[in-house]
Amino acid sequence: MSTDTAPSGKPMKLVVTGGAGYIGSVCATRLLEAGHSVTVVDDLSTGHEDAIPEGAEFVHGDAAEVAETLLGQGFDGVLHFAAKSLVGESMQDPGIYWRGNVLTSLRLLDAMRTHGTPRLVFSSTAATYGEPDTGLIPETAPTRPTNTYGATKLAIDHAITSYARAHGLAAVSLRYFNVAGAYGRFGERHATETHLIPIVLQVATGDRAQVQIYGDDYPTDDGTAVRDYIHVADLADAHLLAVEHAIAGEHEIYNLGNGTGFSVRQVIEACREVTGHPIPAAVAPRRAGDPAVLVASSERARTAMGWKPQRADLAGMVADAWRFTQDRKQANPA
Ligand code: UDP
Repeated sequence: MSTDTAPSGKPMKLVVTGGAGYIGSVCATRLLEAGHSVTVVDDLSTGHEDAIPEGAEFVHGDAAEVAETLLGQGFDGVLHFAAKSLVGESMQDPGIYWRGNVLTSLRLLDAMRTHGTPRLVFSSTAATYGEPDTGLIPETAPTRPTNTYGATKLAIDHAITSYARAHGLAAVSLRYFNVAGAYGRFGERHATETHLIPIVLQVATGDRAQVQIYGDDYPTDDGTAVRDYIHVADLADAHLLAVEHAIAGEHEIYNLGNGTGFSVRQVIEACREVTGHPIPAAVAPRRAGDPAVLVASSERARTAMGWKPQRADLAGMVADAWRFTQDRKQANPA
């Protein structure tokens, strides 16, 4: 692999796998806004063609398969978002995750090596840590994933470390905590929705009768589980920094969160305030594999890359998600 790194601030020619998905489409948009050229590769299995930003090239297909030929055209880097990401599904049918996440990523790494693509930014996850011992989670926390999804992402992180050391790849893994909000016309719209904020907003639009609170007997202030919510545009900005800060032969890992936890009840309350809807909620059993508290220490991303999240306010994230939800509802009335 090439050992050069592009001087900071220079436009780069980048591949974004999974660029038709929620986070990938926002990152592709921000990369284009920053002056980079973007080729989105997506098989549209969970992404949406109309979520590919204007100005991006689009190649339809499997990330690894496409990369094996596409990267021959010469690219400065790959941002690899394409992945399976449903925790429940990963427990019921792990093969989908080991093949779809790990095998695909290994083939992508080999294609990058073959074609001398120097930089990789990888979508990792807080799920690599599993159940933390206590407090804010730093990157040095033990990695003990409690589900197959997290295990596959951790396996890929290990592979990336080896490739960086052995072949000079410049790599950064970003471990996302709970991503929320929307950016322009790009937001969260999964066919199978499992995430708290979009589900609560479906109650506000009348598409769902009530929200279920998965457990109110956790050892937290109000008994419901606590998570660290980060705005998708702040997350995207970390990717822009990462692709520029990646150093040949090194694999850096950064947690991305705001360092503040909000309980399920607090999130529902924020949604009530933003939407003006009463949002009925009922307590249900805990969801298998859910830790009580997951809050990031993002000190490393702030110090090493100068990342400064601009949209840490939970109500602001919910307001952006709500605007996106209403816009989509208006454009596609049921
Ligand atoms: N949650 C909930 N009801 C729902 C969906 C999620 O109580 O309908 C809880 C879930 O158990 C977790 C938190 O909300 O404690 C955030 O879940 P989400 O799926 O959004 O993200 P995760 O933390 O699992 O990545």
